[in-house]
Amino acid sequence: MEQTPEDTIDIDSLMCARAQLTDPRTRLSWAVVFAQAWLERPSKEDLRRLSATRDVHGIRVMLKAFTDWAGGTAAERRKGISLFTDDEMRTTQQRFRRILEEYLEHQTASIGRFYVELRVITINGRPYLIQDNGALDLPPVDRAVFALGLLLHEHTDPLRVCRAPKYRGNEGETCGRWLVGRPDRIYCSDTCRNRATTRHSRQKKRLKHLPTTA
Ligand SMILES: [Zn+2]
Repeated sequence: MEQTPEDTIDIDSLMCARAQLTDPRTRLSWAVVFAQAWLERPSKEDLRRLSATRDVHGIRVMLKAFTDWAGGTAAERRKGISLFTDDEMRTTQQRFRRILEEYLEHQTASIGRFYVELRVITINGRPYLIQDNGALDLPPVDRAVFALGLLLHEHTDPLRVCRAPKYRGNEGETCGRWLVGRPDRIYCSDTCRNRATTRHSRQKKRLKHLPTTA
């Protein structure tokens, strides 16, 4: 299929997108939001979190930056960087979702089978095992999944499920969105944190006003 200019970007645009995803925590947070977004009609909040330009094209650029964090192929650099097709983006999302779901539920998840070339190198007299461009031979979706697997390996903050009361939900229903947690970060958004604290203080007040039998 002929590629339209929309389907490729230049190396500068890719570098800009990469600059938004500098540390592993930001990259994993991006992947977690991406896995849960409604790609056909993303919410404003998802667009804000997923795309520098706040549109679906921007999400595709960021997905490319996420995937080829360590560099694209030399041929791509000459010809322009190809973005994921809509189908590839959707398949990537499904695989991310399945992996994260399994990981959150069982603290272990299958990432898949990959052909990678390993190389041992020496830095300051110490040997290190590195992956030698192997992942670059993979199709785009596999490359993205491989990148997610590496991140889950290297990242230490826990993945969590947001337990804030669900917006307009029944008693006991929770938000359920996934997030990259921290000791002080247990809700997926400020909105959820506010809802949780308001609900909590209301409950406290109600308990205070209950008649006591003492
Ligand atoms: Zn939430």
